[in-house]
Amino acid sequence: MTVTSRRNFLKSAGLITAAAAIMNPFELFSQNREKTVKSGSKKMVLTFRPYDAQMRHVFTIANSSRTTTQLVLTEIEWDGYVGYGEAAMPPYLGETQASVIEFLKKVDLSRFSSPFEIQDILAYVDAISINNTAAKAAVDIALHDLVGKIMGQPWWKIWGFNPATAPNTSFTVGLDTEEVVKEKTREASPYKVIKVKLGRDEKTDKMMINTIRSVTDTIICVDANQGWKDKHYALDMINWLNEKNVNMIEQPMPKLLLDETAWVTQNSPLPIIADEACQRLTDIYKLKGAYSGINIKLMKCTGMREAREMVSLAKAFNMRLMIGCMTETSCAISAAAQLAPEMEWADLDGNLLISNDVFSGMQVVNGKVTLSDKPGIGVIKL
Ligand code: MG
Repeated sequence: MTVTSRRNFLKSAGLITAAAAIMNPFELFSQNREKTVKSGSKKMVLTFRPYDAQMRHVFTIANSSRTTTQLVLTEIEWDGYVGYGEAAMPPYLGETQASVIEFLKKVDLSRFSSPFEIQDILAYVDAISINNTAAKAAVDIALHDLVGKIMGQPWWKIWGFNPATAPNTSFTVGLDTEEVVKEKTREASPYKVIKVKLGRDEKTDKMMINTIRSVTDTIICVDANQGWKDKHYALDMINWLNEKNVNMIEQPMPKLLLDETAWVTQNSPLPIIADEACQRLTDIYKLKGAYSGINIKLMKCTGMREAREMVSLAKAFNMRLMIGCMTETSCAISAAAQLAPEMEWADLDGNLLISNDVFSGMQVVNGKVTLSDKPGIGVIKL
């Protein structure tokens, strides 16, 4: 290439870049934003790696105990920006690191020209398989983080939510011996709400509540994890709990016992919230009338896009709202926290239950979910 032709080449290349900037509003919008890398590819690149979350305490619910939770951490890079995501796989949901990685290998984001095509991208990801909701959430969260970073805004602000209305988050105390329950209850003292896992048997359930009440009067949310099999027994337990400053009951009965649950809800002095019974948006139709409300979790519903839709549908049905989590890092917790202003209850303590978090994000201040102005899902990689 001669000097003249090189100069002409550079000149025309510069013109093409300038023309592209004028024609592409996202480019104009993003040009003053701070980038993670100076410049990068305009093809979205998804990367992922397995990560084992170590539990601070052995974690026990009605049917299982464990010391680690399998995660897969994701990143989507585009034009020098990086969005972070995560899949969390508690064993009872049927996904594993291997199944998530197998799913993510099928995801080809290079077929999309811009991360702003959120609806098309996530509809394509959802259509890859029937299940794999945590794997899908790992793409959804990373994509939302990426787009929020390009826009320079957090999602609670993009959605127009008021952060002042975010609720207190609960801190979970699992089924355990009296001694450990007392220790965990003291550990929960900065929190304004304690969530208790019940559903084993009457003696253990009442021991749990009485032990916590021997330490504190803090409000309790009860999660029976489908553990009460008879509707009359369930209602008796709920009436007993109502005397103990409990303010809601999550999934008292098996998820398939819809008519029995509807009877419990009609007769209960406390709101009854669907967790295992409510996975995705379309589940809400059949739960209307049987439950007082739903517990939305990103790992169940494929991520932030569908969670936002669930908020609107549940409100249209006059159902009450809770946001929950799995054992996960501050990445997925901070993504879920973006929806917290629309919630009556928040159970976003999954990051506090692990000892090897790799992100810093949503902070609990005086027990309350507190949102920052950091863009995207509001996390910093540690
Ligand atoms: Mg639950």
